[in-house]
Formats: sequence, C-alpha cells, structure tokens
Amino acid sequence: MGYSAFRIFKEAVTGHKGWKPVWRKAEPLAEYDIIIIGGGGHGLATAHYLASKFDQKRIAVLEKGWIGGGNVGRNTTIIRSNYMLHENEAFYEFSLKLWEGLEQDVNYNAMVSQRGVLNLYHTDPQRDAYIRRGNAMMLNGADAKLLDAEGVRKMYPFLNFDDARFPIRGGLLQPRGGTVRHDAVAWGYAHAADKRGVDIIENCEVTAFDIQNGKCTGVQTTRGPIGAKKVGVAVAGNSGRVMAMAGMRLPIESHVLQAFVSEGLKPLLDGVITYGAGHFYVSQSDKGGLVFGGDIDGYNSYAQRGNLPVVEDVCEGGMSVMPMIGKARMLRMWGGIMDMSMDGSPIIDKTHIDGLYFNGGWCYGGFKATPASGYSFAHLLATDTYHDTAKAYRLDRFSRGYMIDEKGQGAQPNLH
Ligand SMILES: Cc1cc2nc3c(=O)[nH]c(=O)nc-3n(C[C@H](O)[C@H](O)[C@H](O)COP(=O)(O)OP(=O)(O)OC[C@H]3O[C@@H](n4cnc5c(N)ncnc54)[C@H](O)[C@@H]3O)c2cc1C
Repeated sequence: MGYSAFRIFKEAVTGHKGWKPVWRKAEPLAEYDIIIIGGGGHGLATAHYLASKFDQKRIAVLEKGWIGGGNVGRNTTIIRSNYMLHENEAFYEFSLKLWEGLEQDVNYNAMVSQRGVLNLYHTDPQRDAYIRRGNAMMLNGADAKLLDAEGVRKMYPFLNFDDARFPIRGGLLQPRGGTVRHDAVAWGYAHAADKRGVDIIENCEVTAFDIQNGKCTGVQTTRGPIGAKKVGVAVAGNSGRVMAMAGMRLPIESHVLQAFVSEGLKPLLDGVITYGAGHFYVSQSDKGGLVFGGDIDGYNSYAQRGNLPVVEDVCEGGMSVMPMIGKARMLRMWGGIMDMSMDGSPIIDKTHIDGLYFNGGWCYGGFKATPASGYSFAHLLATDTYHDTAKAYRLDRFSRGYMIDEKGQGAQPNLH
C-alpha cells in the first residue's frame, strides 16, 4: 500500500481499518539471485536500490532477529557529511543528498530533519583544522559555515562559554546536517523493497556459507538452506563473526557504543551539538528527550549493553559543555555493537570467494551512511564494479597501506 495525505484522510474517516502491514512476512524460497545477510539499514537499503535502481529480481534479506532491532534502531540518529578526506567526503555528501530525497523515494515518513550539526571548537589550532575541513567539504559540494563564539552564543546561549576548562571559541556548522528517526529508516526501506518484490525474512539466522571450489552458492540458515547466485553480507557489529564462517579474518574489532535519553523537556535544542574538547554529542527528539552519547566502551564485546565507566564519562562531557543537563533525569540507555575498522573508514568490496561480497566497518558513523552504503553495495552486487564515491573502500587498502584515516589516529579502532 502507498502512503499519502489522501490515504490518511480516508483512513481517518473510515475507522483506520484499511492499513496493511508495512511489509509481508515472507517465507524463504529454495533459491534467490541475490541474498543480503542482515536486515539493518544497510542491508535493507541495498535490497531497495538493487530492485529500484539496478533492476535486479529474486532478492531476499535474511535477518536473524527483527527489522529495526540492530544498530539501525539503536543509534543517536545524526546525519551529516562533515568529513575532510576526499574519499569520505564525496561518499557522505552523496549519502546526504540521498537522505534529502529519501522519504519521497521510499514513500515513508522517516522524519528527515535538517536542523544543523554544530561542532564546537575550543582552541585556535582546532579552529584552523575546522577551517580546513570546512573548505574540503565545500570543494565536494557540501555546505559549511564557520562561527565565532558570538555566532554560537546566538544559537545556543545556554552553553558553557567561559566558565569551563575548555571555553567555547566557535564552531563549524553544517546547516544541512541533522537527524532522522532511525527505526523509520529501516521500516521505510523494508516497505519500499517489499513493494518491489524483495522477500524480507525475519528470525532467519545465517549459520554457514555454502562454498564450493572457491564459489559461494548459498547459505545455511535456522530456517533451512537457501541457494543464491550472489551473497552480500551487511551485518554491522557481527561482521567478524559472520565472515569467520567464510574463513575470513577482518581488520575490524567489535565494541559497544551506548546511547542515552533524558526525560522529556520543553524545546531548547533545535540542532545537533558536538563537544570539541571531549567526546559528547546531543540533540533533542521531537518528544522532548535529549538524545546523547560519547565514546565506545574500551574493550571488545558482542553484548548489546554498556558499562558504567562510559556512562560517567559521557555525563561528564555533557556537564562540561551544557551544565544544565545535570538537572535532567536520565530516562533510558542502551548499547549497540560497532564494527570498528582499523582506520575508522568502511569497507564495501568483493571478497576472494566468488559470489561473496562484504559491507562493513561502519564504526559509529554508519547510520548517516545508510543510503550511500546501500546504493554503492547494490552497484557492486549488480554490476561487479565500484560506485564512483565508494572506490576507495576496498578491503585490500589495509595490505596496500592506503588507509583512509580521517582522524589521523592510526590503526587503533577505539580512537576512531
Ligand atoms: C548507540 C549508537 C549510536 C550511534 N549513533 C550514530 C549516529 O548518530 N550517526 C551515525 O551515522 N551512526 C551512528 N551509529 C552507528 C550506526 O547505527 C551503525 O553504523 C549502522 O546502523 C550499522 O548498519 P546497519 O543499520 O545495517 O546495522 P544493524 O541494524 O545492526 O544491522 C545488521 C543486522 O544484521 C543482523 N545479523 C547479524 N548476524 C546475522 C546472521 N548471522 N544472520 C542474519 N542476520 C544477522 C543483525 O541482527 C542486525 O539486524 C550509532 C550506533 C550506536 C549503537
């Protein structure tokens, strides 16, 4: 079914009896042309673009849990394209452009809200680095605006400007950045893919790959074997575990990242703010809760729950940049598993096994990448060639030494 203002009106006056499930509960077939493992944002976006832009048929998405239960429904909902390195900036700007047309494309309200993302700076060298980043963004067609302390004060007078260990000197603003309702992205892509005949199969965990003579011919699942001409893996935090079933060891570590929501407050923060002297980012949801987060937990884990030292660290960051947050009560918190790559940048590539493709290493910035990741993975699966904006995300960059180290932190995932 389609969604429109007319439809809402019609359902309102007929007792809301005509709404149908957003996607079918599909039963697995014996074989597909393309199987995508992982029904998160990236897997569903891939299926949608395969069907809608690359004219592919007989596609299934296999999800071990439920749609929206992974990181796509656990993140802090921030979208932006404020990167410095060309390999990243071109890709994330492509993604932001796809976000801008997403709701029309998938016919689903994902609450794409471009309220601006502001990165605060606290020192002169940090300002200079932001100027450089802003220029790199503009060279790639993105928007960027440098603000001094007065400019920031006009937007957010309640921030801790002077009475702080790191006084705020200004910020780099990307007005087109913002937030998107995270689980609606999964539901929207699932709805659009389903409409084009993609089978979305929940409660279907892939337990092994069928690999014969160096070619992947299908998968074993908790709902039986399923054959496929091509298999694409998009399992985010589970990348290491799933690719190990194909005998591959990835340059990826899994860490937990936590998110926090305060009680509902009156509107005070219409954009996203990130603290430049510590790791803290915050926005306010339409329901009024402050949604915030910070660093990943310090050690590797596959548990979708976090630890108290990081809670303390995130709250300290919040208190130093926005002391009034101390008066709000924390309502909820949760964790998700991050696929932290060694240079902080993602991987979208074929593997050495014929017919097996990999998408992962999104670290904690993969939500904003969802549309471009899906589009370029679909491009690779359908044409066996790389999309222009994702050519650098090859797996062999780690052996060739061509790291895309946006933060300049070296091969240390917990610092990216
Ligand atoms: C707390 C938190 C805050 C974040 N904040 C942001 C942010 O503000 N902005 C941003 O850009 N990014 C953010 N991220 C990162 C972003 O959410 C992820 O990078 C992105 O969602 C990962 O891609 P995905 O949506 O496909 O992952 P997921 O939704 O995790 O999808 C992967 C799916 O694969 C399934 N799966 C795993 N193994 C198997 C198997 N064997 N068989 C079948 N299915 C399997 C899982 O069940 C899961 O549903 C955040 C993440 C977290 C946890």
